[in-house]
Amino acid sequence: MKKIAFFPGDGIGPEISSCARQVLECVMDLGGPAVEIQEGLVGGAALDAEGEPLPAASLDLALAADAVLLGAVGGPKWDGLPPEKRPEQGLLRLRKALDLYANLRPAQIFPQLVDASPLRPELVREVDILVVRELTGDIYFGEPRGREEVDGKRRAYNTMVYDEDEIRRIARVAFRAAQGRRGKLCSVDKANVLECTRLWREVVTETAQEFPDVQLEHLYVDNAAMQLIRYPAQFDVLLTGNMFGDILSDEASQLTGSIGMLPSASLGEGRAMYEPIHGSAPDIAGQDKANPLATILSVAMMLRHSLAAEAWALRVEKAVTAVLDQGLRTADIAPPGTPVIGTAAMGNAVVAALRGGSA
Ligand code: NAD
Repeated sequence: MKKIAFFPGDGIGPEISSCARQVLECVMDLGGPAVEIQEGLVGGAALDAEGEPLPAASLDLALAADAVLLGAVGGPKWDGLPPEKRPEQGLLRLRKALDLYANLRPAQIFPQLVDASPLRPELVREVDILVVRELTGDIYFGEPRGREEVDGKRRAYNTMVYDEDEIRRIARVAFRAAQGRRGKLCSVDKANVLECTRLWREVVTETAQEFPDVQLEHLYVDNAAMQLIRYPAQFDVLLTGNMFGDILSDEASQLTGSIGMLPSASLGEGRAMYEPIHGSAPDIAGQDKANPLATILSVAMMLRHSLAAEAWALRVEKAVTAVLDQGLRTADIAPPGTPVIGTAAMGNAVVAALRGGSA
């Protein structure tokens, strides 16, 4: 039986992840893949209980699991702590320990929520993008890095570096993802200026030979940023390095207009972590106001990528579509002046839709 490490975290984390857990348990109940869910502490909750943002027991739990399901971490209560003691460190250490090198962020517009996008409806109606971002290399981790004073002047530097193996393994993730979607891959670089991304383009082009059924194009990052606003529906899978992906995936997520709807997966070799893209939203924590759908959609990604249960992933996604069709909205996705429901009611509605009934 597959093992799931379950870390609700802080702020709205426990509320949204309890809905996600309910959905996962419902899937099991209906005959989906059987999993063993083991709960642990991470972030501020772990700091309060154990004095560490990622206690050894939590790390062991994650390392022994096939997948991690995480709510969110952080909050003002811990903001004054030194950097190495902050809740976010728990998350960063977890990602590093699991060697999660591929970050998958779908930015899909639900037709029912087209009006929530900052772009005109005709531009976003067809948007269904998967950003595949490399997560463990690039200028964020490259050496040398540092800051110094030379001749009385301050200077600082970082190094953008990738080797061909790192590029090939993330490219393969993106090509495979494109095979399961519309068969289009756009690789983003700055090959006109940066040697590192010239190698990126070279290796991605070589890797394309393994995937003749995928149509590959290359875009410079500045053009990609522009195209995402000008005509976002042209993209299927966007493949990026760590830094370009950091920026473009946030841009892509905003096309859909609703941070509470977007799931993510971070994949390594045989390990994975699933979480919503948003944070712990301390401003609405404990008020039954948070939208749990991003976390529920993260469960769908887990079913797809870690539990080899594509049909169940689709069923969960369909249940989410069904509750939106019923007109159910949490506050973040409701047009002004229209009725809203709370976190728990939204979770229950998805479970009811999964079971085939209505909310
Ligand atoms: P945030 O994503 O928590 O919140 C931004 C805004 O979006 C807030 O107004 C919040 O109410 C709203 N929001 C977020 N998720 C929502 C949901 N599911 N439903 C409805 N509204 C939602 O970002 P922030 O305010 O910059 O950060 C708050 C805390 O979260 C900080 O401590 C930060 O470090 C942490 N954080 C954690 C993660 C993570 O755990 N992966 C990611 C980002 C930020």
